[in-house]
Amino acid sequence: MLILVLAAAAAVYLLTAWIWPHTACADCSGSGRRFSPTGKNFGPCGHCGGSGKKLRLAARIAGRTDT
Ligand SMILES: [Zn+2]
Repeated sequence: MLILVLAAAAAVYLLTAWIWPHTACADCSGSGRRFSPTGKNFGPCGHCGGSGKKLRLAARIAGRTDT
């Protein structure tokens, strides 16, 4: 029974990951910008390519690919 509940939870988790595959990039807090040490200049975040989005691990498991 416990395994059934866990399997159902995992299925729901992967479904939400499929619908909402992105999370805020931890590197730039989802802003997509990386500020210079002075804080006056910024450029696109290299970690997420400036999108501010990061593909969730669960989304990758669910078969999504990063764009
Ligand atoms: Zn980023």
